[in-house]
Amino acid sequence: MAEKYVYFFQPGKAEGSAKMKDILGGKGAGLAEMSNLGIPVPPGFTISTEACRIFYKNNGQLPEQIEKEIKENLKRLEEITGKKFGDKNNPLLVSVRSGAKFSMPGMMDTILNLGLNDETAEALAKLTGNRRFALDSFRRFLQMFGNVVLGIPKNKFEEILEEIKMLNRIKLDIDLNEEHLEQIIIRYKELIKRETGSDFPQDPYVQLNMAKEAVFKSWNNERAKYYRKQNNIPDDLGTAVNVQAMVFGNMGENSATGVGFTRNPATGEKLFYGEFLPNAQGEDVVAGIRTPYKINELEKILPEAYAQLVEITKKLELHYRDVQDFEFTIEKGKLYMLQTRVGKRTARAAVKIAVDMVKEGLITKEEAIMRIEPNQINQLLHPIIDPKAEREVIGKGLPASPGAAVGKIVFTAEDAIKAATELKEKVILVRLETVPDDIHGMDVSQGILTARGGMTSHAAVVARGMGKPCVVGCEEMKIYEDKKEAHLRGHVLHEFDLITIDGSTGEVMLGGMPLIQPELTGEFGELMQWTDSFKRLGIRANADIPRDAIVAQKFGAQGIGLCRTEHMFFAEDRLPIVQEMILSTTKEARTNALQKLLPFQKEDFKGLFKAMGGYPVTIRLIDPPLHEFLPRREDLLVEIADLKFQLKSATSLEQIDKILLTLHAKEALLARVNELHEMNPMLGHRGCRLVLSYPEIAEMQCRAIFEAACECTLESIKALPEIMIPVVALSQEVETLRKLIESVADETMKKYQTRILYTIGTMIELPRACIVADKIAQYAEFFSFGTNDLTQTTYGFSRDDVNKILPFYIEQHILPGDPFQSIDEEGVGELIKIAVQKGRKVRGDLKIGICGEHGGDPKSIDFCHRAGLNYVSCSPYRVPVARLAAAQAAIREKFKQEVSSST
Ligand code: ADP
Ligand code: MG
Ligand code: MG
Repeated sequence: MAEKYVYFFQPGKAEGSAKMKDILGGKGAGLAEMSNLGIPVPPGFTISTEACRIFYKNNGQLPEQIEKEIKENLKRLEEITGKKFGDKNNPLLVSVRSGAKFSMPGMMDTILNLGLNDETAEALAKLTGNRRFALDSFRRFLQMFGNVVLGIPKNKFEEILEEIKMLNRIKLDIDLNEEHLEQIIIRYKELIKRETGSDFPQDPYVQLNMAKEAVFKSWNNERAKYYRKQNNIPDDLGTAVNVQAMVFGNMGENSATGVGFTRNPATGEKLFYGEFLPNAQGEDVVAGIRTPYKINELEKILPEAYAQLVEITKKLELHYRDVQDFEFTIEKGKLYMLQTRVGKRTARAAVKIAVDMVKEGLITKEEAIMRIEPNQINQLLHPIIDPKAEREVIGKGLPASPGAAVGKIVFTAEDAIKAATELKEKVILVRLETVPDDIHGMDVSQGILTARGGMTSHAAVVARGMGKPCVVGCEEMKIYEDKKEAHLRGHVLHEFDLITIDGSTGEVMLGGMPLIQPELTGEFGELMQWTDSFKRLGIRANADIPRDAIVAQKFGAQGIGLCRTEHMFFAEDRLPIVQEMILSTTKEARTNALQKLLPFQKEDFKGLFKAMGGYPVTIRLIDPPLHEFLPRREDLLVEIADLKFQLKSATSLEQIDKILLTLHAKEALLARVNELHEMNPMLGHRGCRLVLSYPEIAEMQCRAIFEAACECTLESIKALPEIMIPVVALSQEVETLRKLIESVADETMKKYQTRILYTIGTMIELPRACIVADKIAQYAEFFSFGTNDLTQTTYGFSRDDVNKILPFYIEQHILPGDPFQSIDEEGVGELIKIAVQKGRKVRGDLKIGICGEHGGDPKSIDFCHRAGLNYVSCSPYRVPVARLAAAQAAIREKFKQEVSSST
């Protein structure tokens, strides 16, 4: 057991600090650090995350030592504030706030005004001379305690509140008077009694104890678990509990509560940014109950507090060297800071802030690069609405999370999940406001539109975190959830109506607008250029057609790492020729069909060489088994049965002849399909095994490649083909095919009277190939790890059926994660290392890359860097992510070397 479980903080000094996030949680560490910096923070103490872990280990009990520490700290808090818990004259009131190491927005609710009961509420009234305020605080406490600690649904409290507001014709909470509040309090207490069977606990110590346990328990509630899963946060960290003296933003018009950012979290602009509500408490601002004011309005109402807020938050940004997301309360003109943390931001903002901070001299380029989560920049590759398209705007809200989304309207999270997962529809979730329970529905939606709430509302914060386009506070929209309708400027929108939202402007449009992909410009382009000066890995793209190659090139790809030639076979005008080739019974017939394919392939390759302008293009010879190009056996059987049936009812000879002709063709096809049938096609007659049996296929493909390269050369376009042989297990396979490829190359160059540079290499996707990599390297100038198949064959998992096993394995912690997503370093990674080492021993300049799905995964890219690969290849839209991840891998390595050489 640790020596200490509870850490005190008060203005000027704290027992903890910013460095102790593990123990104090993010919120506790921030409160401690602000205290240390002399910033006005209400005093309090933090019960450590370790206490939470012990709580779970002990089946929900805390050891005596920890309870004792809590009591001692409470006493200290009483001394400092001069107030006493439960006192009839001067009662101490506290907030009880959860706070894990990683902030989990809206995941665990805070309880305010704890310590209030019938007596202390009256004491507070007398003490402040403001009975309305005291009652308002009490009713809030009853609701929060009732909901968070006792588990009574929020809406049961809301219903009572609404009823009393309606009876008295009141619109806003702030217009409730003492009498109304008294009624509410009585009704709330009745509700608690009815729902739990016991009276609301009047004893503050009992309240505190229950609240503390509720915080610990909330660590394992469903939405917390879901959030952790989504964000890869370990389940065993636990949360801290912060107990803090209350300050009050609901003491009248010179009091307020608010939240803000030191820079704009959506755009990154260096502008003080935030929202507040006068005469309000806690979550009022983010709950979307009243629409809040912009922070600069505060300057007019409470200029001194505003100036101090600006000064303090500037100091915090400089101190943390990063954007701060802060929460504050003003009690009768006096400012208190209640939270500070590194601000979550959109990818666009993250990039701008990082680049700006380098220019401001606050951070280095390396730091800027390390600050951006590679997967996050996917957001920047989000579509925008084609600027040329005419916008028919039917509504406008706040631009809460950038990017445009097109989708069909759904009104509840469940409907979103159903439509997106079962019907495979693209949906936009349209809600009055979102609540934490909606998180899953938000996750599956293209975008989110809400009628209420500000830029820091739940919907806005969560959407930005997810990188989803989001428009909030579209107040002109009326939503009728029961009728599944929304009314907006005279338009009646129904479920499944198509709309477009623009999260960068806040606009809502009818129908689906044309979307286009953005480019690497401005700060993003700048940051991307910086990555190039740090990274060692080359970045290539997997592209089969010129269009993809052009996108890849625009995003900074330095070549094509994988061109799957067979993808060209599936095109409408080619498939019949491919089938003719497969059905041929003689070599001549086959060669004949292949001759017809050659011009198509040649044109495709020329397109790729042109798009890549002198960068290498790795072309893989045909890979899949032939049956993939033929119709499915079951479909043929049905068709044949149908034809036979037609034959019986045919009336004319002419008809019979026609049916018979098709029937015979289908039967021949079926016979060939049956011949080609394999039990395990993925382990079957494919890759180099196929072209070794049908060398004429490889010959045609190579001829197409070399003719394309020669023709490009004659047109002064540089072409660098790299011919890649798939599914190699034996060096002899490569040896044989190498001869074939070389002879076609020689022939073609002679024919065109020109020379081209080309290389021959192999895919490494079978464990055997890794083990005999030294032998293979004798005939191969490059290796490219096909990690999809290598993972499949190393585990013996069929990639197409693995979903029977994987989710279960991951849930049971048998596997730490999906090995098809991030390279399994222990197994597959080891094979890769063996192949790299053996291959390079034979051929020092062996070029080595990876072209599996893993090539775009930041964790796998880090591994590839460490394993000494030359390049990674990924899908065109992942190229910027890969560039960033590659730079981070290099910086991480440099940093480790510096650390180890200095110790
Ligand atoms: P969250 O993690 O959901 O942001 P917090 O613990 O930060 O929850 O609490 C939410 C809000 O409650 C704060 O922003 C603040 O307005 C209010 N609050 C928390 N503690 C206090 C306190 N001691 N005095 C006044 N208001 C508080
Ligand atoms: Mg909250
Ligand atoms: Mg907070």
